[in-house]
Amino acid sequence: MMSAILQIEGLRKQFGGVTALAGVDLAIQEGEILGVVGPNGSGKTTLFNVVTGVHKPSGGRVLWHGRDITGLAAHQISGVGIGHTFQQAMAFPGLPVIENVRIACEHARRSSRAYPWTTPEALLRFVGLSDLAGERAGVLPFGNLRLLGIALALATRPSLILLDEPAAGLNDKETLALVGLVKQLPEHGISVCVIDHDMKLMQMLCRRLVVLDFGSKIADGPIRDVLNDPKVLEVYLGG
Ligand code: ADP
Repeated sequence: MMSAILQIEGLRKQFGGVTALAGVDLAIQEGEILGVVGPNGSGKTTLFNVVTGVHKPSGGRVLWHGRDITGLAAHQISGVGIGHTFQQAMAFPGLPVIENVRIACEHARRSSRAYPWTTPEALLRFVGLSDLAGERAGVLPFGNLRLLGIALALATRPSLILLDEPAAGLNDKETLALVGLVKQLPEHGISVCVIDHDMKLMQMLCRRLVVLDFGSKIADGPIRDVLNDPKVLEVYLGG
């Protein structure tokens, strides 16, 4: 039986006169890979930023296992077990790849849960970067930097990970490697929410899809149904 780990209720965000989120309700279930799509400007990044604590919402609530975490600071959000990767991979460019992961591991939250990757080496093995452990992060090709971003996010021991456009800028081979990796996360007790506008990526990753348009949720359900929803077709095909 699935249960919601993250529950978003009536989430609103105004930037001056711009309504970026117009009252979004969304639940992420334990063990799922949920996709959130929408055209440019539909509020995807704002949703990500509000949930991760970058922005404070203008209204509504975010509940984590039923606990109100609305408006907590980013480090507190990561402390409850919500990890994230950014579109721009964050790493210390002058330090070796393995040192980057080691530093992230030192900031891992305390968690009673058994965790599959207990060392930086194990994390690098999981994301397929063992051979590059000694390279400076700054010289990694873009695709590998993305994988390092995932290792850094996993190092904090999240039980939910939010991925913001994880495949942007990756070639087909790199995208497939990323998809293979992300699909394994639920087996390790990590739920996933992927935010992107790439429907092909969503079809590879998700069973359930949420569609945002102008800051509102216009569809939420099994991906097949959502992709056949006239409202969604209109938004995506400009109908
Ligand atoms: P998406 O990620 O789906 O492209 P965003 O969340 O970036 O959408 O943007 C939603 C709306 O909010 C857009 O109209 C955008 O211009 C506006 N917006 C986003 N961030 C800011 C900000 N920091 N300041 C002002 N307006 C913003």
